[in-house]
Amino acid sequence: MTITGATRTFALLGRPVSASPSPALHGRWFADHGLDAVYVALEVPAGREADAIDAFRTLGLAGANVTVPLKEHAAAAVDALEGDAALAGAVNVLAWEGERLIGANTDARGLVAALEAEGASPAGRRAVVIGAGGAGRAAVVGLLNAGAASVVLANRTPERAERAARELGARIGGGRLSSAALPRLHLRDADLVVVASHTPPEGLDPSRCRPGTDWVDLGYRRPEPPTSAAARAAGCRVHDGTGMLVHQAALAFERWTGIRPDTGPALSRLRSQG
Ligand code: NAP
Repeated sequence: MTITGATRTFALLGRPVSASPSPALHGRWFADHGLDAVYVALEVPAGREADAIDAFRTLGLAGANVTVPLKEHAAAAVDALEGDAALAGAVNVLAWEGERLIGANTDARGLVAALEAEGASPAGRRAVVIGAGGAGRAAVVGLLNAGAASVVLANRTPERAERAARELGARIGGGRLSSAALPRLHLRDADLVVVASHTPPEGLDPSRCRPGTDWVDLGYRRPEPPTSAAARAAGCRVHDGTGMLVHQAALAFERWTGIRPDTGPALSRLRSQG
C-alpha cells in the first residue's frame, strides 16, 4: 500500500511490544478490506504511561490497543469507559466517539469467543481464574457475562485477588464470584481453569484437576508453560491464548472500522508459525 497524508494510524501501546503479532494481524485485515490505515507497535518507556495516552490524543491516532503495563492507566485517562472495560476496570482498546476518547475492553468477549470456538463454552461451568491483573479481571468479566455457574479467582499475591473479587463482585456476577488463596484452591471442583498470569504461580498443580477439565493458558508464545503440559498429562483439554488473541483483535478491528474480519486465516497463520 502507499502511505499518504490521509493514512490513518493505529497503534499498540505498551512494553514490551516488539514481538507482538498485533501489527501483522491488523495490517493484514486493513489490506484485506482495502482500508487506508497502518498499525504500528509503540514502546512506552517506564514512567511515561500517562504521557503515552496524552500523546495518543495530541497526535490524533485513529485507535489503539493498550497492553501491559498501560491497561489500568488507560482506564483512568479516557473520557468514558464502555461496557466490559467499566466492569473489569481495564482497557485494551482506545477508540474515538467524536471528540471523546473511549476505553473499551475486547479481552473479555475475545476469551469467550475463543472458548466457544474451541468447544469449551463457559456457560454453566465452574471456573477458576489464576491471575488478577488486566487479563484475569477481563477473564472474570467474560466468564460471568457468558453464564459461568461460578468463578473462583486466585493470584500469586492473594490480596490482589481478594480486592479484585470484591470490586468486580460488586458490579457483576450476582454472588457467583469469590477468591481463594492458591494453597486452598480446589481444582477438582472446577471444570474450566483459565491461567492469566505471566508465569504460572508456584503451588499451581494441574494434577489435582479432574480429567476432561478445560485448561486455558492465555499466553500464546512457545514453548508452552510446564503447567499446560502437566494439565494435558492429567487428562485436561489444553488450550493456549492464540484464540483469544485473534478474537480480541477482531473485536477491536470491528470497533474501529465497523467491519468484522475473518478470524480463521489469522488463526491458521499464527498456529502454523508455532
Ligand atoms: P498484568 O496485568 O501485568 O498481570 C500480571 C499477572 O501475572 C498478575 O496476576 C501477576 O501476579 C502475575 N505474575 C507476574 N509475574 C509472576 C510470576 N513470576 N509468578 C507468578 N505470577 C506472576 O498482565 P496481564 O495483562 O493480566 O497478562 C497476564 C497474561 O495474560 C500474560 O501471559 C499475557 O500474555 C496474557 N494475555 C493474553 C492475551 C491474549 O489475547 N491471549 C491478552 C491479554 C493478556 P501478582 O499480582 O502476584 O504480581
